[in-house]
Amino acid sequence: MIAEPFNYDAPSTLDEAFAMLEAHGDEAKILAGGHSLIPMMKLRFSSPTHLIDINRIPGLAYIKEEDGYLKIGAMTREVDLEDSDLIARKYHIFKDATHLIADPQVRNFGTIGGNLAHGDAANDHPAVMLALGAEVEISSKEGKRTVPIDEFFFGFYTTAVQPGEILTEIRIPAASGKYGSAYYKVERKAGDYAAAGVAAMVQLDGNGNCVKAGIGLTNVNPLPMRASRSEEALVGNQPTDDLIELAARYASEDCNPSEDLRGDEEYKRHLVKVITKRMLKLAIERAQNA
Ligand SMILES: Cc1cc2nc3c(=O)[nH]c(=O)nc-3n(C[C@H](O)[C@H](O)[C@H](O)COP(=O)(O)OP(=O)(O)OC[C@H]3O[C@@H](n4cnc5c(N)ncnc54)[C@H](O)[C@@H]3O)c2cc1C
Repeated sequence: MIAEPFNYDAPSTLDEAFAMLEAHGDEAKILAGGHSLIPMMKLRFSSPTHLIDINRIPGLAYIKEEDGYLKIGAMTREVDLEDSDLIARKYHIFKDATHLIADPQVRNFGTIGGNLAHGDAANDHPAVMLALGAEVEISSKEGKRTVPIDEFFFGFYTTAVQPGEILTEIRIPAASGKYGSAYYKVERKAGDYAAAGVAAMVQLDGNGNCVKAGIGLTNVNPLPMRASRSEEALVGNQPTDDLIELAARYASEDCNPSEDLRGDEEYKRHLVKVITKRMLKLAIERAQNA
């Protein structure tokens, strides 16, 4: 199928983009990498009358550490995360995740802001952001507001981004000390969405106790899901094999997978248990070597 007719605008500043969003209201959609929006328009699941292409607005793509945060501009492409030295040194989880997202063509265009703003629990970055305790900066003509990632996802393709707003930055508490993170998903074939995926982050103190833990789950719940009971079990304790086993069991019990072409509920719960265990062990190993 082909998309319904639409108008196309390419503003060169955020202010121009806000004015266009205001003029067209609900009928307008932001175009970033286009790798979720355009397929949905072709299938006519989405038929915006105006596309506002933000690719020509300078200053929206960067990866930097500043003021105690890792800051990632919304228009940063998957390929930029893959190629970043800072990411390779300190935030292994992004290397793990971007490598598993689709194929190089998609990664050359797809943006991290679009991946989150699309609001799909099958996408990989939402779980990564939950694990890392991210917050999202949303801008509009009224100014900027910051939304914790736990309050960002509302429902099927629905997020905290309101008409007239643009997601501009993702902020993640900067890695320090013995910090490690990891992501893996099981996919039916290379580049597919996850049957199940798990993002894990841990921070250890000098005695090897877990002082911080984050676990996000991909595609096993209607919304991207934090495995809170697993995190609580880990924090304040030595991450022994038994404790990791318990945390993995909690994650598999607490998620809500539904049966589809990628597998039935039991299989997906099993995947969550196995991947949680493996990602926690990998994150801990990375933290010990940090
Ligand atoms: C074949 C294929 C395989 C894929 N496999 C995977 C995968 O395995 N894992 C995965 O995570 N993703 C996968 N994707 C999705 C891909 O990562 C998309 O690029 C991503 O979901 C959307 O990013 P985008 O920049 O392309 O956004 P777009 O498609 O341009 O936009 C997506 C939505 O977000 C809104 N939006 C975009 N940017 C902003 C912004 N800054 N502020 C406000 N709203 C905004 C748009 O209006 C639209 O509603 C796949 C896509 C394809 C085509």
